[in-house]
Amino acid sequence: MFNKKKNAPPQKVVVQGGPLSCQHCQKDRFHAMRGQLNTKLASLIDLDVFNPEADCYVCASCGFVHWFLKGN
Ligand SMILES: [Zn+2]
Repeated sequence: MFNKKKNAPPQKVVVQGGPLSCQHCQKDRFHAMRGQLNTKLASLIDLDVFNPEADCYVCASCGFVHWFLKGN
């Protein structure tokens, strides 16, 4: 009875030891993506000093994108 879905279901996310809730709607289910910050964009907004790799979480409810840059 289970259909295979292309996309994983939204899930709860923990960032820096704390549960992530949407900045806009306060829901706690997100679709996770990684490495979407390309170098062209990084150069455009002067992020060359950062590692351009980023985790981003798209709110499953409203679509608000939360970005977490991994610059050390
Ligand atoms: Zn939201």
